[in-house]
Amino acid sequence: MPRAKQTKGICSFCLGEVTKGTAFKHIAACPKRQAAVDASEAKPGDVEPLYYLRAGDSYLKDFWLDLEVRGNAKLKDLDKYLRAIWLECCGHLSQFTADGFGSRVAGMTRQIGDVFGDGLEWMHLYDYGDTSETVIKAVGVREGKPTTKHPVALLVRNLPPETPCMVCQDPAAWFCRECQIEDNTEGMLCDTHKRKHPHKDYGGPIPLVNSPRLGMCGYTGPAKPPY
Ligand SMILES: [Zn+2]
Ligand SMILES: [Zn+2]
Ligand SMILES: [Zn+2]
Ligand SMILES: [Zn+2]
Repeated sequence: MPRAKQTKGICSFCLGEVTKGTAFKHIAACPKRQAAVDASEAKPGDVEPLYYLRAGDSYLKDFWLDLEVRGNAKLKDLDKYLRAIWLECCGHLSQFTADGFGSRVAGMTRQIGDVFGDGLEWMHLYDYGDTSETVIKAVGVREGKPTTKHPVALLVRNLPPETPCMVCQDPAAWFCRECQIEDNTEGMLCDTHKRKHPHKDYGGPIPLVNSPRLGMCGYTGPAKPPY
């Protein structure tokens, strides 16, 4: 995949485009975001620490998420969120670790504030066979009332990376697993070349979805946030 430009993301509040490098600043200045924060602050309830987490695939840097997570939410809430938006294929095991597989593992009932409070980088591993690695770090924290009733709020999500069709270089919209496994090619196809594509053994080409797990194990999406 070409990676010349800095990847873009979309702000969940104003739906404006931001870059990976400016997302944090944008969220701090976004008027629509500020309106959502003000509306929450006007409601009854106590303020609490809310963590700005940046999550990104360890290898495919075009895939990243900026999340606001309640300090008293549990790691399993974040695990559930990552599974829904990016990872879930067959209910594999997962863990949060500071040092790689099996080393300094943080239990799923640990609180976000407790784990991310010191600014260290953690890794989320999903599927111990064909493993997806997500690096997560707190880049900020604020005292406030959460903007949703859920433990996690999506702030910014990467836009789907532009991927060329392996035949004609037009934008791809499909992925063929058989190409990847049997032919050792990327397996990315445009609409035209998907129609003419001969492979059927792995179920035929599937739609490209906005997830770094596409092409791993049996992952096919839907890559949608759970709420
Ligand atoms: Zn915005
Ligand atoms: Zn699987
Ligand atoms: Zn094509
Ligand atoms: Zn194919």
